[in-house]
Amino acid sequence: MARTVYVNGDYLPETEARVSIFDRGFLMADGVYEVTSVLDGKLIDFAGHAARLTRSLAELDMAAPVTMDELLTIHRELVARNGINEGMVYLQVTRGNPGDRDFAFPDPAKTPSTLVLFTQDKPGLAANPQAKIGLKVISIDDIRWGRRDIKTVQLLYPSMGKMMAKKAGVDDAWFVEDGFVTEGTSNNAYIVKGNRIITRNLGNEILHGITRAAVLRFAREAQMEVEERAFTLAEAATADEAFITSASAFVMPVVQIDGTAIGTGKPGPVASRLREIYLDEMRKAAV
Ligand code: PLP
Repeated sequence: MARTVYVNGDYLPETEARVSIFDRGFLMADGVYEVTSVLDGKLIDFAGHAARLTRSLAELDMAAPVTMDELLTIHRELVARNGINEGMVYLQVTRGNPGDRDFAFPDPAKTPSTLVLFTQDKPGLAANPQAKIGLKVISIDDIRWGRRDIKTVQLLYPSMGKMMAKKAGVDDAWFVEDGFVTEGTSNNAYIVKGNRIITRNLGNEILHGITRAAVLRFAREAQMEVEERAFTLAEAATADEAFITSASAFVMPVVQIDGTAIGTGKPGPVASRLREIYLDEMRKAAV
């Protein structure tokens, strides 16, 4: 059955959805996005994603196409129409279709932004068996642009990073800049030393993960120490544990970096506990 998707005010079968070839998302990667997970048919941390979307739009002088309340309604409608129990809702806003190609931003009064949403059905998302095995990662140079805090659709280098990982026979890649780990290709990166969780501090160098914010809050509430600072690969190699977070992977252990086993080489207790707490708490607060 064809998915029902949302394009600029209309709910349509995916085969009938259309966006112009002049859309700046297509021509210039001039767009931002969010991915919100769905568990038990409900949205996980919608408020967090809406707040980050608002910030991404503001940083790029892009108008919000609808209010955040309307956006919640659209998310829920798509989840219901597509019968999603576990999965994701992908949302993208672009600077729209000015009718031709031009580097200068169009007048927002004349060129409304484009809003597209679609669902991804992922049964078993929360019970992902990978959480019991952990991920293997390689490190690669972080050559992305300088505003990684804005969640733009320029995902070519992260895609290349995933391909480098695939070619190396591992699951993902961690970006390294000036000797320090920034983040994963599509997730935030952490190491654990004893009761201490270490993750890159917020700045323009990393995406401000919505899952990161929630997990650090839960970690502090569980009396774990949190250090938000840069760490090196050498430090990661001698850590007790490592893990990543993202809206669709939640908390996922990392058991090997560049061929070196981290800790016991198996998912550690801190990552496993944080995953459990995160899923429990977020299910309770889902809307
Ligand atoms: N860092 C990058 C580069 C990402 O692409 C993502 C998610 O797509 C994240 C971190 C994790 O962010 P969130 O927890 O909001 O999904």
